[in-house]
Amino acid sequence: SNSRQLGRPNLENGRVQDAKNLRVKLVLLGDSGVGKSCIVLRFVRGQFDPTSKVTVGASFLSQTIALQDSTTVKFEIWDTAGQERYAALAPLYYRGAAVAVVVYDITSPESFAKAQYWVKELQKHGSPDIVMALVSNKADLHEKREVPVQDGTDYAEKNGMFFIETSAKTADNINQLFEEIAKRLPRPSAT
Ligand code: GDP
Repeated sequence: SNSRQLGRPNLENGRVQDAKNLRVKLVLLGDSGVGKSCIVLRFVRGQFDPTSKVTVGASFLSQTIALQDSTTVKFEIWDTAGQERYAALAPLYYRGAAVAVVVYDITSPESFAKAQYWVKELQKHGSPDIVMALVSNKADLHEKREVPVQDGTDYAEKNGMFFIETSAKTADNINQLFEEIAKRLPRPSAT
């Protein structure tokens, strides 16, 4: 109803319960340097700027996408802002997150190991119905690849995650990442 739109949003578990317009909190996790900020910048501004640091502190960037069924999804994207160094604060950071995007760098086995650490943390402390994506970034650096695609897909499958290889540099699969997440969001039933 219209009156509902004027009132306070019915925010439940980081999600606005409106059948047509979803608003979700999305948190980014992963080692420093894997490209989290660049992925956000590519998605929100359509740019790749290796010198800019868009990591936001207490705030977030948002971007809305429209799906084919005319649903819109507004992502409120929380970058880690150095949380990787303060593991104890992490549960506060991902509280209420409907989506977690865990990123590693295909040239860094260490970052893949760290991604697995974050997945375990999310399984312990995240919302039970959180949508989790495993993102294997810097796919353009395939000549320096040290993490086989199969390792990523196997791990994602075992942990009920969606897997995608991206490049923030070439824009490969960046929009697809967010579209696939949007499709996997639990939908409030229309009334
Ligand atoms: P964050 O610490 O995870 O936020 O990582 P940044 O987004 O700051 O990126 C770290 C570095 O990796 C920067 O020098 C970026 O230019 C570079 N980078 C990020 N994404 C890509 C990518 O897809 N391909 C390549 N070749 N470099 C990338």
